[in-house]
Amino acid sequence: MEWTPIKKTLHDGGVQPHLRDYAKARASFSWEEIRDELDGLPGGRGLNIAYEAVDRHAAGPRGDHVALRWLGQEGDVLEFSYRALRKQSDRFANVLRALDVGEGETVFSFLGRVPYLYIAALGTLKNVSVFCPLFSAFGPEPVYQRLSRGDAAVVVTTERLYEKRIAGLRERLPHLRHVLLTDVQDDRADGVWSLPKRMREASASFTLPATDPEDLALLHFTSGTTGMPKGALHVHEAIVMHYMTGKYALDLHPDDVFWCTADPGWVTGTSYGIIAPFVHGVTNVVDEADFDAERWYHILEEQQVTVWYTAPTAIRMLMRVGGTPREGYDLSALRLVCSVGEPLNPEAVMWGQEALGLPIHDNWWQTETGGIMIANLPALDIRPGSMGRPLPGVDAAVVKRTDDQVEEMPPGEEGELALRIGWPSMFRGYLHEKKRYEDCFVGDWYLTGDLAREDADGYFWFVGRADDIIKTSGHMVSPFEVESALMEHDAVAEAGVIGKPDPVSGERVKAFVALNTSYTPSDELRLDLLGFARTKLGAAVAPKEIDFKDSLPKTKSGKIMRRLLKARELGLPEGDLSTLETASG
Ligand code: AMP
Repeated sequence: MEWTPIKKTLHDGGVQPHLRDYAKARASFSWEEIRDELDGLPGGRGLNIAYEAVDRHAAGPRGDHVALRWLGQEGDVLEFSYRALRKQSDRFANVLRALDVGEGETVFSFLGRVPYLYIAALGTLKNVSVFCPLFSAFGPEPVYQRLSRGDAAVVVTTERLYEKRIAGLRERLPHLRHVLLTDVQDDRADGVWSLPKRMREASASFTLPATDPEDLALLHFTSGTTGMPKGALHVHEAIVMHYMTGKYALDLHPDDVFWCTADPGWVTGTSYGIIAPFVHGVTNVVDEADFDAERWYHILEEQQVTVWYTAPTAIRMLMRVGGTPREGYDLSALRLVCSVGEPLNPEAVMWGQEALGLPIHDNWWQTETGGIMIANLPALDIRPGSMGRPLPGVDAAVVKRTDDQVEEMPPGEEGELALRIGWPSMFRGYLHEKKRYEDCFVGDWYLTGDLAREDADGYFWFVGRADDIIKTSGHMVSPFEVESALMEHDAVAEAGVIGKPDPVSGERVKAFVALNTSYTPSDELRLDLLGFARTKLGAAVAPKEIDFKDSLPKTKSGKIMRRLLKARELGLPEGDLSTLETASG
């Protein structure tokens, strides 16, 4: 069904969107001009994300403005002005320096959404070390994979998470020199330090080293279909993109109160839960607690949130709870609601209009792009179900890939979504995987792995993934990682993992397993396998469903055909079976 576009009418009065004339903004756009709106390090010593995000505000008239308002799970509230955040992040950078942690070394956080996470991120960037946030719901296996592949030199975590998930791995992590515990007052052992103690002892003043815009800044793991997680590398230059998209897609103005519900363990929670709001000098609300509809509406009301960045799964959960929140809560401050991470169904866009009084602006990007690339921009008409149009400075196309070239598809035709290289936050590599990185590019184009179509008016529509990667509750899950964990169970001979459509989480992780001959399928074994996977992988990644099969369909070269498992599960056409190994399936 075609949904009627939601017309946006520009009027004078109130907060004016930064971008009012799309065609003009695209035609006159220059990255240099955007870059000039940032300060750069004093003395022309380069560009550092943390300096742009915090220090330049701390030193000026916005020094006392609330930068971070943290809402604790139990109702406690902590506020940090830009000046306070500057001092805290300076202290953290000095802690790293005192521990002899140098430029380019990787500092991981493995924390819930607590102030130390934000302080550690900024302090790490100041030290020109590389920050890598890990989602705190990961089980020991994903944690080990990421810490070892990322050559972690430092982990900032809590005592409980350390004991449960990391202590037992230490011998297998030769690069890990320091663990900084956020919730103990005394050091625990050599190399297991109290962060509060070190912060107290550290100076609140740190001189940022010269930072080349191409110096590495962030490492974000994302999932692959054929191997273990890929570490996408981002540089300090990415701040130019975070700033531009904060301005044009999120329409941030100095007096905004901004709330991004994503966890910094995922790229949205870093690019837009830490960097973009701070670089715009706004008040950034962070909620420690997990999703709860009533709590969320309270936050929107109490904090007078003006710009809200959330995700389709959360919106669908709110829809499920029902009601018309704008009648029960004062949502009059809310000016813009945006969403990212999965397809946003047109019903959800319209629900926003009804329930919140504002439509939801879908936008698209991915870990590799580092920032928003395509969006339903605030002043443009919304096409419900569409991801919107490319940001100024961004060239997107739908293409067909051949070996060494791409062919642009005419409007309306499906193909792979491609982006012309040259935007500042483009990833600069997959850690230790040169070939995998090079394979993402054909000529001037970066190929995203998403299938899409573009309509005659330049709006882009998501069709699906070109590969088997699963998106569940907005989180990328690699079927390979789940299969590998299941294979470690004595009973499992083969495992194949797919994403099964789910009305709330988008897709749920479902596994098919073939058992070793000495085992027989039973409900008890199914529960055992579900528990085994959950313990190894953590709740965010583990399968929710397991089915037993005598054998799994494989290609002639022995690769499990997830596509076929999925087609059979959903009763869809099985497609081309020429590569199927006939004995199995
Ligand atoms: P991640 O790298 O975890 O941020 O996930 C990026 C992937 O999420 C994209 O490649 C898409 O497959 C999906 N995605 C992100 N935003 C959207 C959107 N607005 N609509 C549909 N899929 C999306």
